[in-house]
Amino acid sequence: MTTVETSATVPVGGPSLPQERRLVTAIPGPKSQELLARKSAAVPAGVGHTAPIAAVAAGGGVVVDADGNSLIDMGSGIAVTGVGNADPKVVAAVQAQVAQFTHTCFMVSPYESYVAVAEALNRITPGDFAKKTALFNSGAEAVENAVKIARKYTGRQAVVAFDHGYHGRTNLTMALTAKSMPYKSGFGPFAPEVHRAPLSYPYRDGLTGPEAAERAISVIEKQIGADNLAAMIIEPIQGEGGFIVPADGFLPALVEWCRANGVVFIADEVQTGFARTGAMFASELFGIEPDLITTAKGIAGGLPLAAVTGRAEIMDAPHVGGLGGTYGGNPIACAAALAAIDAFEHDGLIERAQHIGARLTARLEGIQASDPRIGDVRGRGAMIAAELVDPTTGKPDAALTAAVAKACIAQGVIVLTCGTYGNVIRFLPPLSISDELLDDALDVLMAALAAS
Ligand SMILES: *Cc1c(COP(=O)(O)O)cnc(C)c1O
Repeated sequence: MTTVETSATVPVGGPSLPQERRLVTAIPGPKSQELLARKSAAVPAGVGHTAPIAAVAAGGGVVVDADGNSLIDMGSGIAVTGVGNADPKVVAAVQAQVAQFTHTCFMVSPYESYVAVAEALNRITPGDFAKKTALFNSGAEAVENAVKIARKYTGRQAVVAFDHGYHGRTNLTMALTAKSMPYKSGFGPFAPEVHRAPLSYPYRDGLTGPEAAERAISVIEKQIGADNLAAMIIEPIQGEGGFIVPADGFLPALVEWCRANGVVFIADEVQTGFARTGAMFASELFGIEPDLITTAKGIAGGLPLAAVTGRAEIMDAPHVGGLGGTYGGNPIACAAALAAIDAFEHDGLIERAQHIGARLTARLEGIQASDPRIGDVRGRGAMIAAELVDPTTGKPDAALTAAVAKACIAQGVIVLTCGTYGNVIRFLPPLSISDELLDDALDVLMAALAAS
């Protein structure tokens, strides 16, 4: 057997990658800089990036770049690789499927894996009632279809979304999204019949859940009218909007109002789904059973797949041929999803998310005790954030947030920011990350805060 010289080859990803933060060059190193220069020339400036590296492998809790740096992954490619990056179960399922067939189009020649994903989602989503599932390619496409289905079912047109909400980048989902820069600015006109209601944001509004729900319902009744409303769409815990956890009682009151008024309640669990929040779905944390649930990100271990799951009688409202798409429920993505869902159900990942949440929260609250610029620590499971503020005025501090995130990345920790005011540092590690890497990442964050 000959041994292969490995130093010049790309390391294989997955959990066997050395689980360590290792910097061998400045970030970005020369090879990453080379790629970024090619990117600037070939890819439009509108497609930004958070970490200036050329990724060549990832797994466990690290991302390795072309220069040989190993960075701690506190973002999971935006909450996607919950099961882990290049997870062996997912890789094996994909390899087997890709050799079998890559595409028939489910609308032309159906295949088993699509149906099996639908059955699995019908089973694991909250609500003990008959459900059906349709598959798509992206979170935005799932949200668009949930709205289509709700409109067809109710015969009504209006849709209400919430302050700080994020639902995607297509025309309808831009309309549903609250934040102008960078998601909407200059890209209008937006889809009509989209309205906005105030959210429960306990750190900033000080309202109880029922009070915040009453405020939202009053806006909806006075400004839209229940009779015109097809659907209400909300993220149970807001993602891009700042990991805002609504006060207890807010979501149940909204669901109850929707039921009483014939409005379809859609939970957008694209970011919160699949064990991320320490429950299979965040809706469970609030005791709600949505009529429709949109999922994507964590569903297939990194392959593009999305779903709308919900009450059978609502899902069946559109006519034959009214739902679909060329690639929706692609067989390779479905194979990956079946492997990922099996891992979420049987590999202790829900407990792992709870453990990560407890560890991150304890560390962040420890830092907060001596640094009042951390105004709020919040989130659930492996979806935790710190809101950074001016300690005297309580005003959002976006500049500090950007500086801290940049310093973390320079030290080999990939962190993401979010929030309407750009002042939230969020942690979304893969559930396969080790405690040692989590602790190291928090040490780096603490040092970055101290130096900023
Ligand atoms: C990311 C996200 C979307 C959009 O998903 P894409 O796959 O990027 O289209 C929609 N809703 C929520 C809550 C998200 O976090």
